Amino acid sequence: MTQPLPSIDQAFLLNFLEDLLNTPSPTGYAQAAIARIDQELAAFPDLERRTTRKGALVVDWPGQQARQPRALTAHTDTLGAMVKEIKENGRLKLSQIGGYAWNTVEGEGCTVFTSREREGGLLAAGRRLRGSILLEKASGHIYGRRVAETARDDENMEVRLDISTVSDDETRQLGVEVGDFVAIDPRVEINEGFVRSRHLDDKAGVACLVAAVKAMHEAGVQPVQRTLLHFSNYEEVGHGAAAGIPPEVCELVVVDMAAVGEGQNSDEFHATLCAKDTSGPYHYDLSQRLLRLAEAHGIPHRVDIYPYYSSDGSAFWRSGGDVALALLGPGIDASHNYERTHVESLLATTRWVMAYLLE
Ligand SMILES: [Zn+2]
Repeated sequence: MTQPLPSIDQAFLLNFLEDLLNTPSPTGYAQAAIARIDQELAAFPDLERRTTRKGALVVDWPGQQARQPRALTAHTDTLGAMVKEIKENGRLKLSQIGGYAWNTVEGEGCTVFTSREREGGLLAAGRRLRGSILLEKASGHIYGRRVAETARDDENMEVRLDISTVSDDETRQLGVEVGDFVAIDPRVEINEGFVRSRHLDDKAGVACLVAAVKAMHEAGVQPVQRTLLHFSNYEEVGHGAAAGIPPEVCELVVVDMAAVGEGQNSDEFHATLCAKDTSGPYHYDLSQRLLRLAEAHGIPHRVDIYPYYSSDGSAFWRSGGDVALALLGPGIDASHNYERTHVESLLATTRWVMAYLLE
């Protein structure tokens, strides 16, 4: 007889997710999102929280036993960009952070975090300048058909800042410098249970983990094993969880997005277990155990293979981590583009995480 799982505060899950999505955190500049997660988890005094030297958040959650510690990881860093060049006309050229096509962010708003403008003596507390990512020759009335025909690449894309500047000197005066971080607007909207936003990869996974922690605390239940929660800040560039998972951990479950699209088994209404991605197959026994748990608890789930995908779990394996490794997560449509999922998928993922923690 399977024990019922704790009930999930759905309003909390969606509110926290929206808040996290609206907290800019391109890879390398994810500290605000890490702090936001830390703040949320501070409500549970039995959790021991620390930030690694690399900047990830690691949470130690005591279990009924500590003989076979487990870990779960989700990443809060997102795609973004860095100022590559300040052009003579004061606009910016960018260098991408993470893998995406320029056309997926064309016309999107963005924020430049200046590193040179010091407020209160704090370098990190720079100004936020707003702008948008556009084709350099963007005007249809000037360039005609060329707007449609130009390749979207590093050369042809630029940032138009919403501030008066017509020269590189003026832009530098504003505090902008090569190497400054740029966050791409998430543009969050929640309609009829659908969550539409950039960066659901993997803030959706983070929100599911935090919602599971909250639900289990409110139900007064503890994980069966001591569990470490690792909130990663360098996943999109391939080495997030290469550090921060202690060597005594026996099993690692990555909570990250499932790739939804043509030919895929995943969708926006189930949680999906990844059998294999670009980095190869995941751990068979742990994956099978997770599938049996999903069946036992009636959790809507799928199994899938992701063609252009690698995870923080693969990063940990590659760094020498010796664990059983599995990956599950919510279905995200149009990933590394303007993404979307549904609350059903978030709830299924959260329930699956709890089923794992409790057995
Ligand atoms: Zn991801």
